[in-house]
Amino acid sequence: MSDTTYALVTGANKGIGFEIAAGLGALGHIVGVGARNDQRREDAVAKLRAAGVDAFGVPLDVTDDASVTAAAALIEGRAGRLDVLVNNAGVIAGIWPDSPTAVTPAILQSVIDTNVLGVVRVTNAMLPLLRRSAHPRIVNQSSHLGSLTLTVQQDFGPASGAYTPSKTFLNALTVQYAKELNDTNIKINISCPGYVATDLNGFQGTSTPTDGAQIAIKLATLPDDGPTGGMFDADGIVPW
Ligand code: NAP
Repeated sequence: MSDTTYALVTGANKGIGFEIAAGLGALGHIVGVGARNDQRREDAVAKLRAAGVDAFGVPLDVTDDASVTAAAALIEGRAGRLDVLVNNAGVIAGIWPDSPTAVTPAILQSVIDTNVLGVVRVTNAMLPLLRRSAHPRIVNQSSHLGSLTLTVQQDFGPASGAYTPSKTFLNALTVQYAKELNDTNIKINISCPGYVATDLNGFQGTSTPTDGAQIAIKLATLPDDGPTGGMFDADGIVPW
């Protein structure tokens, strides 16, 4: 088996996803830059290549079944397998704060479509390719906000009826994937990047996308005796 490793990062055109792609590329992975907008994707690929990363563009809208199927076909044609999948693409609701009493079913549906169903679409489409890898790793990008334990213990600001529950849903789903995949060599874990200055929060976050990317990069490159089915931040285990 060759030493070449192929990674796909969803929502890699900016923010934390871009820095995950850059970090994995710096470690020698060939990186598929999953992004839905052609121009933003091409710009990101060009920027990564200028930094020495072996990057290629993967047109990918995680809410669109056909787009996800085409992305899997593109990676199969180019690489024949996938070693690392980072499900990073995510959105907040169109209103903020997205209080439970203000959230409509349509708003909730659209957040879930990206943050939860998007992960299911992409993961299930990529699993046949991941199963061909010697050391497959899946990382789902969640948030400390998605931890029920932390949410009841700490003041995370205004109540959220869409974004925060979507990450809790994602956490629950990840645990079930880990159970199903437990007797395979696929490791699937959740990363919590911290409060990072990106478009998502109007650049209010207190850390940089480069710092926020580190835990996902670590989980994407776990050794074979590393954990699976866990939730982690830069300091270690995050409680459910
Ligand atoms: P960001 O800068 O807004 O980046 C979000 C990325 O997701 C963009 O590349 C965006 O693409 C992409 N995306 C959204 N919907 C998509 C879709 N349907 N298909 C494909 N790509 C899509 O935000 P970020 O802070 O880096 O967020 C990255 C992840 O980290 C998210 O899952 C977020 O929930 C999580 N997170 C962030 C923080 C934080 O403090 N920033 C904290 C905890 C967790 P476009 O450019 O096309 O919109």
